[in-house]
Amino acid sequence: MPELPEVEVVRRGLEQWVAGRTVAEVQVRHPRAVRRHLEGTEHFVQALTGRTLTAAHRRGKYLWLPLAEPDGTPSGRALVGHLGMSGQLLVEKPSAPDETHLRARFTFTDRGRELRFVDQRTFGGLAVEDLGGDDAVPTRLAHIAIDPLDESFDVDAFSAALRRRRTEVKRALLDQTLIGGVGNIYADEALWRARLHGARPTDRLTRSQVADLLDGVRDVLGEALAQGGTSFDSLYVDVNGQSGYFSRFLAVYGQADRPCPRCGTPIRRESFMNRSSYSCPVCQPRPRASSARSRRS
Ligand SMILES: [Zn+2]
Repeated sequence: MPELPEVEVVRRGLEQWVAGRTVAEVQVRHPRAVRRHLEGTEHFVQALTGRTLTAAHRRGKYLWLPLAEPDGTPSGRALVGHLGMSGQLLVEKPSAPDETHLRARFTFTDRGRELRFVDQRTFGGLAVEDLGGDDAVPTRLAHIAIDPLDESFDVDAFSAALRRRRTEVKRALLDQTLIGGVGNIYADEALWRARLHGARPTDRLTRSQVADLLDGVRDVLGEALAQGGTSFDSLYVDVNGQSGYFSRFLAVYGQADRPCPRCGTPIRRESFMNRSSYSCPVCQPRPRASSARSRRS
């Protein structure tokens, strides 16, 4: 499943390859891909045809491209996309053969490369939505917390909010209302860097632990971004079909029984919310059972 750095890689690809181009034709190959466009497929096609995609933005794992009318004025709407579990936005030459799971195709008036939405499992989707107010964020996305890769991320507000929560620190990292876009992989990697077990109660973290944790989140996201995303899921590729290479650099995630890169102790796997958590038993000792129990009450 694409996590935040992968989606940011896709955003940068869209900014480079798609922004400023005018849609000539939209083909929806599978209605499920536009199910979030409530007015239906034909309306989706009409809302985009002849419009210019002016930029590419991201909030959490959502992407949006604001639309301009044929006369160049902003339309107050945007093409909004979510990649779901397996979605890809690919920029392809028109001569490239159709992908097996091609769901939608956008051609442009310059007759250059097409934008294709490919999604095997079709949990992702596209819609045209209204942009709200002055900040020009789609209304439906306004509640999603800004993430640490966003220039406007507020470190002090995040630190204060984290320490006010009465929860376990890994749950807090995955809480999209607190911090955007941190999934299971990057949460585990950031916790390892900060030497914190994911079950540590947030309201007992010191200021310096919170600062280390946030540094860990930013470093791991920044490094993943520099590598083009994690992409050990073979379904994920960026807009040009290139896989990322960050998975080679994971310290703990998916590394059960391999040596901790810091101390050599075998990495442990624990179950967590129907998934797995990976950590080093020595660098990241579990909180004492008594304090963990009192937090749960
Ligand atoms: Zn260790």
